[in-house]
Amino acid sequence: MKIGIPRILLFYRYYPMWKAFFEALGLEVIPSSITNKEIVDLSIEKSVSEACIPIKLVYGHILDLKDKVDIIFLPRIVGLEYRTYMCPKFIGIPDMIRSVDLDIPPIIDPTIDKRNSLTGFFKGFFELGRFFTKNSLKILSAYMEGLKALKSYNEKLKREVTPLEILDGKNYEKDNFKIRIGIVGHCYEIYDEFISGGMIKILNRLGVKVLSMEMVDWKTILKEANVLPKKLFWTFGRELYGTARYFIRKSLVDGIIIVVAFGCGPDSLVRELIERDLTKPIDFPEITITVDEHSSELGLITRLEAFVDMLIRRK
Ligand code: SF4
Repeated sequence: MKIGIPRILLFYRYYPMWKAFFEALGLEVIPSSITNKEIVDLSIEKSVSEACIPIKLVYGHILDLKDKVDIIFLPRIVGLEYRTYMCPKFIGIPDMIRSVDLDIPPIIDPTIDKRNSLTGFFKGFFELGRFFTKNSLKILSAYMEGLKALKSYNEKLKREVTPLEILDGKNYEKDNFKIRIGIVGHCYEIYDEFISGGMIKILNRLGVKVLSMEMVDWKTILKEANVLPKKLFWTFGRELYGTARYFIRKSLVDGIIIVVAFGCGPDSLVRELIERDLTKPIDFPEITITVDEHSSELGLITRLEAFVDMLIRRK
């Protein structure tokens, strides 16, 4: 049986784990194509116009898998952390997709919810494994394979290799950098080259070493966000704030780029917090890049070049 995984949302965070898990259960795993013009056009045609661009692209990626697989994996991720939530669009995405007549293979959408229980992650995978086998030991062993693959993937990322290099075979310059910039944004914005406009590639060409949240221990990032007087409700908000604070406090970067999806409520609030608390008080260089389906590559290049020039002069 062939199972399709859309190359969007938490793909660049969990794909190695999902792949190892399904393969251990005897399935063939097919990821959707790297975002291309056809996927973008389909996404815009089929999605609701109010959604942010990452959510719109789910439609196109699902349609890209339509004739290639027997079943599509689209988890309902409710929470990845004790007592905090994912963005509501993550929770509702399987229903949003089903509500449109797309004529696609069946979707399996196990609930992954770590909010109230330390075993929530495993429960989600157990529920998922039950779709394919009644053998609990086989599911447990597939889960262990998945965890092993995730651990090895995360170790590679900590060596400052990007997910695009590991999963998509991209090749970036490794030496001779003039400056370092931290990109503060969600993995599905930074590593989808349509959404980010190929930001990493452009920065790399300009002599910039790029750091992102994926290169730092996740729990360390979340701990950084605990300095806020009130715990942020959304895990993603905590991730963005914690990443910016970690990069600045440890002097790991010369400037930060905050990537915000147009129409994203949580991101716009957190961006404001980052500016007020972290960058403005110490005059730390920062720009915000807002992304949507109308973003222009030329406009992006101009802004990045200006920011990089400024950082080099300042240095
Ligand atoms: S956090 Fe923002 S960008 Fe991400 S899915 Fe939710 S609304 Fe979209």
